[in-house]
Amino acid sequence: MPVELPDEHRMIRETVRDFCETEIEPIAQEIEDEHRFPDEVFDQLADLDMMGVPITESYGGLGGDTLMYAIVAEELGRVSGAIGLSYVAHTSLASKPIELFGTSAQKERWLRPLSEGEYLGGWALTEPDSGSDASDMETTAEKEGDEWVLNGTKQFITNASEAGSILVKAVTDPDAGYDGISTFIVDPREDDGFEVTTVWEKMGLNASPTCEIRLEDVRLPEDRLLGEEGDGWEQTKKTLDGGRISIAALSTGLAQGAYEHAKAYSKEREQFGQPICEFDAIRDTIVDMYRKTERARLLTRLAARKYDQGDPVTKESALAKLDASEAAREVAEDAVQVLGGYGYTTDFAPQRFYRDAKLMEIGEGTSEIQHLVIGRELGL
Ligand SMILES: Cc1cc2nc3c(=O)[nH]c(=O)nc-3n(C[C@H](O)[C@H](O)[C@H](O)COP(=O)(O)OP(=O)(O)OC[C@H]3O[C@@H](n4cnc5c(N)ncnc54)[C@H](O)[C@@H]3O)c2cc1C
Repeated sequence: MPVELPDEHRMIRETVRDFCETEIEPIAQEIEDEHRFPDEVFDQLADLDMMGVPITESYGGLGGDTLMYAIVAEELGRVSGAIGLSYVAHTSLASKPIELFGTSAQKERWLRPLSEGEYLGGWALTEPDSGSDASDMETTAEKEGDEWVLNGTKQFITNASEAGSILVKAVTDPDAGYDGISTFIVDPREDDGFEVTTVWEKMGLNASPTCEIRLEDVRLPEDRLLGEEGDGWEQTKKTLDGGRISIAALSTGLAQGAYEHAKAYSKEREQFGQPICEFDAIRDTIVDMYRKTERARLLTRLAARKYDQGDPVTKESALAKLDASEAAREVAEDAVQVLGGYGYTTDFAPQRFYRDAKLMEIGEGTSEIQHLVIGRELGL
């Protein structure tokens, strides 16, 4: 169990924490209020070599492991859920599958610019009428000569309006069920027929664009198929096994940020002639916030460690995601309560953590779906 972090991981954490506190924390509320995607932050993260942490150095990545990547995601979440969400979607969903399933030519063309931070990536599975039941998709890819022609609509796609590549899931054989789904690399800036039709207004995470996209007769050469035809669903399951670890890490960061704000405030705020942390009720709340955050972190790191060892992690990643997302929402809610009326204002961070945390129980499979996955893994 990784209770103590290796030195290299601790150094990365310190570098990223320092960057987060100087460059991100001061603008975190402002970008949320303005609904502004902060390009400049991602350029700086690229300068720090952070845009491809778990990607091999051969294709522009840092060559770190999943544990290191989870630490970076946690640090980003500790100051900004929105930047954290765009970051993990870029890494786990948009970059990692190209490393896992792409040819060397695809990695050179599509993975390198992602891991070097030239632009962000997106991953498009969800559709207006298929979310939890994701394989029930309507987007199609039909072969015409030596081209694939894509048609359909994808919903809630993180980063789509900012992306230089998007991995799109589409049905290539309607009669083959799970084996009839394939993955395509779409270039949203160059491929005709691609359009971002909506950038959603949300209850939180507004500095991270969440988009509806339309694909209308998008014609792609054969080398845009990722892996083999029909591999799309198996790839999706593997991608989500890793992706859920990063949502767990991001959730741990949100919980940590909320906990720290509440603890500091409780030592300064006085009522009835004493700091509020000296009231049993507030002390116990903060102890429980700490307990939940630590537990989320342990489960997340356990899943990351197993992933790095090459073990199956479907159960561990779902468990970490389920627990950490719940912890983030509960801890953030408690932080608002500890700050009282000030906690309800946008001058203080806890309300933002609270709004951002809610998504963690929905994205990359809702909590209900995590129960379903874990239940299946337990043989229930
Ligand atoms: C901010 C944001 C970012 C996102 N980013 C991406 C992205 O980058 N790429 C992408 O492809 N998708 C993305 N999503 C989509 C996200 O993964 C889906 O919203 C999520 O999987 C749920 O699907 P749904 O919204 O269609 O809800 P539904 O599937 O319609 O679920 C509605 C409710 O029914 C419950 N439910 C459904 N089926 C079952 C069941 N079998 N048992 C018990 N309960 C069930 C759900 O748990 C939920 O409570 C994002 C969503 C948001 C909000």
